[in-house]
Amino acid sequence: MSTSWQERYRPLVDRFGRVHTNLRIAVTDRCNIRCFYCMPAENVVFRPRHEILSFEEIARFVRVVAALGVNKLRLTGGEPLVRQGLPELVRMLSAIPGIHEVALTTNGVLLREQAAALKAAGLARLNISLDALDADTFRRITRRDVYQRVIEGIYAARQAGFQRIRINAVAIRGITEEQVVPFGRFAREEGFEVRFIEYMPLDAENHWERRRVLPGEEIRRLLEAEFGPLVPAPRPDPSQPAVDYVFADGRGRIGFINPVSEPFCHECNRLRLTAEGQVRNCLFSLQEWDARAVLRGGGTDEQLAALVFECIQGKKPGHGIDDPDFLRPHRAMYQIGG
Ligand code: SAM
Ligand code: SF4
Repeated sequence: MSTSWQERYRPLVDRFGRVHTNLRIAVTDRCNIRCFYCMPAENVVFRPRHEILSFEEIARFVRVVAALGVNKLRLTGGEPLVRQGLPELVRMLSAIPGIHEVALTTNGVLLREQAAALKAAGLARLNISLDALDADTFRRITRRDVYQRVIEGIYAARQAGFQRIRINAVAIRGITEEQVVPFGRFAREEGFEVRFIEYMPLDAENHWERRRVLPGEEIRRLLEAEFGPLVPAPRPDPSQPAVDYVFADGRGRIGFINPVSEPFCHECNRLRLTAEGQVRNCLFSLQEWDARAVLRGGGTDEQLAALVFECIQGKKPGHGIDDPDFLRPHRAMYQIGG
């Protein structure tokens, strides 16, 4: 008796038993700032518009992977808010059967204008990237002068009704140390969850060096010296990359994403769709699977499902940053979708 493609390819389990339920979708490779750990300073070549998946193409891809067990989506980029009409995509994706949550990672520059529309469209969660709590350091990192706009965006999001907003800060030695205590205070006084993410070798200009990674453990010690003990918070989802803590006095929540010092690949449940429709099984993958060719070449849903399944089967046990023969992906973070 023949089985349906849904039965054949669901769940999206890889060779190491990891079940993939989480999809990160890059909606653009464009960005309105130029963080040095992600993009080149000048002469960025973006993909031409016709190469970027339409909302309908993204929604079709999501319908297929939702049938294979994917239930959580995160929109990213590039900067997702520079993509015109993003709330409409949120609405389309939230309505797909099987999708429990649509979340967004943004640099916050355009959030003041868009927060209310995103909330109304059904966006469930917001992560806002902010690496420094002073305008000078922010400018040094992002090569743009928009610190105040981001701060306004964060408060506009809260005003629009988003709860448990997360602030993501990339942790870089020589820059982040003096931001740690201000971020601790920000988390405690303002009630935003702050997450420190170790700097990964995905910058466009190839300047990453291991000595520039500021390990989460070191940040934790700096915070504890100032504010007292941090105690582990319950982990409702063991596949989440962050390890979260709360201060012992109950004020303030801090998370650590330590892909370099403490890789969590063995629990990874994520797959990625780039803005031009390539499926990736890892940030550090050297290989991609061409969903756009299927979407635009008259392919069936079954062919799309088979392509995603094949991609998952090709997933390696870990990112391999520490391997002597480690090769960086050909693309930088903004081209993959962080
Ligand atoms: N533009 C949006 C933003 O910045 O939030 C979404 C895309 S960005 C590529 C997603 C996340 O990746 C951000 O939190 C950013 O700080 C992080 N990121 C970018 N390059 C990184 C790197 N080399 N190492 C660690 N995190 C990085
Ligand atoms: Fe843009 Fe986000 Fe990359 Fe910064 S991290 S350059 S905001 S895509």
